[in-house]
Amino acid sequence: MTDYEAAILDVDGTIVRGETLLPDVTDGLHALEDAGCSRLLFSNNPTRGSDHYRGKLTPHGIDVDPGHVLTSATLSAEFLATTHPDATVYLVGGERLETILEDATVELTSDPDVADVVLGSFDDSFSYETLRDALRALEDDVPFYGTDPDATIPVDDGLIPGSGAILAAMEAVAGREPDAILGKPSAIAAEAATNRLGVDPAETLVVGDRLDTDIALGNRAGMTTAVVLTGVTDRTDIPDAAIEPDYVLESLAELETLL
Ligand SMILES: [Mg+2]
Repeated sequence: MTDYEAAILDVDGTIVRGETLLPDVTDGLHALEDAGCSRLLFSNNPTRGSDHYRGKLTPHGIDVDPGHVLTSATLSAEFLATTHPDATVYLVGGERLETILEDATVELTSDPDVADVVLGSFDDSFSYETLRDALRALEDDVPFYGTDPDATIPVDDGLIPGSGAILAAMEAVAGREPDAILGKPSAIAAEAATNRLGVDPAETLVVGDRLDTDIALGNRAGMTTAVVLTGVTDRTDIPDAAIEPDYVLESLAELETLL
């Protein structure tokens, strides 16, 4: 019998790479099921909601309950709707995030002068004008949040700038850091995942490909952590890294060895 009640699994670099399912990933998922562990998928992607991952994984024979999927977009929407229910939010982010926020009844404005809260994220039409308006929105002492810290995002032919890069620009002009960055590895993210699973962090396993988000989240929250080598981390990165995983797996297919 396994020591774990539940597992939090990263998606990109752990289950899929782009649109492709990583080899033998279903073996790892079946091992979790057989061990009676519940499963939460948690992506730092700020442009997708829970349904996207069901659509993406179902064709591969993986059943996904959208109630057991978190993204930095759904997390941010839930956080703002709960902690700032009457606030008007100024968003630097993409259209898909805008829809996810509106679906969670977060009120958005495009007028920086009436912002009660500012949220920064991935925005592929980010411009000088965007930054000028963001500065204006941040001039009053309004709460300032980011969806996720990822400075770059791996794509098929290399890297593209992510939310972390845009937040760094906003931070530079405003002269202050975000009050919180909501996605992995934040305490807010760990708590949201734990609440969703209804389990003790000490009985939770976190598996992902990034030391600075997936593994950092688990280590801070008192969970057991396993890094997989199918994404951004190479085995040679691990000995010198400041963030240490409890286990190193070649891929999610090896998950059975921990259960
Ligand atoms: Mg990943």
